[in-house]
Amino acid sequence: MKCRVCKSLAVISLPRHNSAFCKEHFFEFFYNQVKKAIKEFRMFRPSERILVCVSGGKDSLSLWHALTVLGYPADGLYIDLGIGGYSEKSKEMAEKMANLLGRRLIIVEFGREYAPVNVVAKRARRSECSACGTIKRYYFNRVALEEGYDVVATGHNLDDEAARLLGNILRWHIPFIAKQLPVLEEENELKKKVKPLCRLTEQEIAAYAFLNRISYIRDECPMSQDSTSLLYKRALNLIEAESPGTKHFFYLEFLKQRDIFSVSPTNHDRTGIKRCEICGSASQTDICSFCRLVSYLQPLKT
Ligand code: AMP
Ligand code: ZN
Ligand code: ZN
Repeated sequence: MKCRVCKSLAVISLPRHNSAFCKEHFFEFFYNQVKKAIKEFRMFRPSERILVCVSGGKDSLSLWHALTVLGYPADGLYIDLGIGGYSEKSKEMAEKMANLLGRRLIIVEFGREYAPVNVVAKRARRSECSACGTIKRYYFNRVALEEGYDVVATGHNLDDEAARLLGNILRWHIPFIAKQLPVLEEENELKKKVKPLCRLTEQEIAAYAFLNRISYIRDECPMSQDSTSLLYKRALNLIEAESPGTKHFFYLEFLKQRDIFSVSPTNHDRTGIKRCEICGSASQTDICSFCRLVSYLQPLKT
């Protein structure tokens, strides 16, 4: 197998592009995909302050690494949800990357301040994944606002986005489909959110992490058994194996043709924002979803 560009020995084959690359040209390919996403969706400029949300996994650590290589001075945010040994290990990986890059890592100790996320979920009678999502979204925005960041970046990749799109299409959730973009503009104290790895697959990001010797937590989160999204990923991978390129065509072509889905107002619109009576942050309801969630802990705390 030879590199498509220089014909030397390839280290990775990319069936979806019908090509293979040596290490140097794979990095070139990788950075070009990140640059293309940033430019196409006007995600940010080098002068803007970027906060990368890092979970300790390969996607978000590779994102932080790649943005730094590309000259974007990004800082990291890690939220410790108090998940047994998993949170400790993943925090360690985030700290290691912060040291390697010489960048600031902000750590939020949710588990210690409130309770482990599984306890919160149980008390609120919510699934662990949904409680975890509420907590993460809350801190992504709050920390960015308080610390003066212009944009919040997450490590969502092409597989994540394609699986989410498939799920939304299977249910014909038109308003969700219309807004499933790699950029959510800033609005009413909700900071701009971006997904610069949306053009790269999980496998390509794993290769980037491996070739850069990035240590990351390999275990899946013990709580994250979001079986539907795993099912959609499996289904897309099955199709991809038979017909390489279908996955990226499915998602990237959607991005090109997104205007055919018109946005109709829903409860999830970022307009009509009030202020949470407890924490004062922007909210669509009198009490924000984070404060509602942790309120179930009150009897425990007293
Ligand atoms: P997930 O919802 O676990 O698929 O993660 C999606 C993205 O959210 C990751 O790529 C990270 O950018 C971010 N993220 C996940 N967990 C954390 C965490 N504990 N702290 C900060 N960011 C996180
Ligand atoms: Zn080459
Ligand atoms: Zn609140």
